[in-house]
Amino acid sequence: MKPIEKAMTITYPVRTGLYINLTNKCPCACTFCLRQNGSGAYGSDPLWLEHEPSVEEVIESLKSRDMSQFTEIVFCGYGEPTERLPELLEVAAYIKEHIKLPVRINTNGLGNLIWKRDIAPELEGLIDTLSISLNATTPEQYLALTRSKFGIESFQAMLDFAKEAKHYVPNVVMTVVDQVTSKEEQEVSRQICDEIGVTLRIRPLES
Ligand code: SF4
Repeated sequence: MKPIEKAMTITYPVRTGLYINLTNKCPCACTFCLRQNGSGAYGSDPLWLEHEPSVEEVIESLKSRDMSQFTEIVFCGYGEPTERLPELLEVAAYIKEHIKLPVRINTNGLGNLIWKRDIAPELEGLIDTLSISLNATTPEQYLALTRSKFGIESFQAMLDFAKEAKHYVPNVVMTVVDQVTSKEEQEVSRQICDEIGVTLRIRPLES
């Protein structure tokens, strides 16, 4: 196994988005997670952090970027962004006030289990898009893929969060990874999304 490389890669560009690597904490250990095999993503510097960045460090990193190069800012790194919800909301408020680009969170949708409360209302006015990893079509399959520390209740909690978030976030999208789901599973995923009233996106496995 390769040694883990660490750095303070707080922001990193991905296509036209500027991504924020807020944390390395995550309640899951997904079988397909980039963290299983690497140190970075999309050719970035290592995303394993030397320490969890403060709000001030994130804002400094944002200030060092030429924002004319980007069309959105995305909370997505080597961890689950809602693990640091207070800091995430503070940074999102800064972006809304000073940068004025749309803000997305790529999340596993388990924030309510992490915080033991309904966090969806706190996202209102600060987050424009939520991209939630649906991953699977049954609680058992979800648990096998994500190895969530919250166990079998994780799948339903993630679906409940998606349904609730629609009331507070303009765009809620759920995703499955093309290479780890069959066409039949993708069809069931589409039905799940239709029932919840959100859009399904089938995304390629990232490397
Ligand atoms: S939820 Fe995301 S960061 Fe956490 S293990 Fe799964 S893919 Fe990786």
